Amino acid sequence: MVGLNQGHLMSGTVEVVCGPMFSGKTEELIRRVRRAQIARQKVQIFKPAIDDRYHETDVVSHSSLAVTAQPVAKSAEILERLYDSTRVVAIDEIQFFDEAIITVVKKLARRGIRVICAGLDQDFTGSPFGPIPALLCMADRVDKIQAICTVCGAPASKTYRKDPDSTEQVLVGETDLYEARCRTHWDYADEDEDLLAFSFPLNSTANKRPEMMNDNA
Ligand code: ADP
Ligand code: MG
Repeated sequence: MVGLNQGHLMSGTVEVVCGPMFSGKTEELIRRVRRAQIARQKVQIFKPAIDDRYHETDVVSHSSLAVTAQPVAKSAEILERLYDSTRVVAIDEIQFFDEAIITVVKKLARRGIRVICAGLDQDFTGSPFGPIPALLCMADRVDKIQAICTVCGAPASKTYRKDPDSTEQVLVGETDLYEARCRTHWDYADEDEDLLAFSFPLNSTANKRPEMMNDNA
């Protein structure tokens, strides 16, 4: 007999947990995975092969919680490794995947799978990270969480890279390279901000029309 809510149970969903480094994204992903396992749902966990900071095959949080994951070199491998019985797919460090991850996530959800994605929303310059903007947009649920600023203890939404000379977006590291910071103590002046400052020089006469300047003369 078909249960009344079976249609609801079959519906796939996309959840995104994002925020800076040390905000607890991996902890939250593990928490959701464990609850799904308690509900006896078949869960598969994936992570990009690039993230081998702690362990080759485990997803490990900074507080040492861990679950076994399958490292994949590219997003299409997730579909290749999927079991028919899988109800929940969790993907950590999703910002490191190629753009094809967007299609992969869509396909999983269309199959009725609950997809839990965790990843950095911004890189160390504050720019959107890889496929994250599209994932946030398509998600049914988004949780943006904060860490604690290492300077002042305020809620932190930014990831600060300690080495100012390294400019590449992807540089895998830990507390050796990164800190969570609030906006004040991160304060990364990027090119966009310079452009904005150029267009709207708030405290200068440069933004006044010539006639206004004449009036003031
Ligand atoms: P993420 O996956 O977002 O990088 P994790 O889930 O791996 O974060 O780790 C979160 C844990 O990191 C926290 O529960 C705490 O024990 C630890 N931690 C270390 N530094 C900080 C910080 N600056 N702010 C918050 N938590 C921190
Ligand atoms: Mg993490």
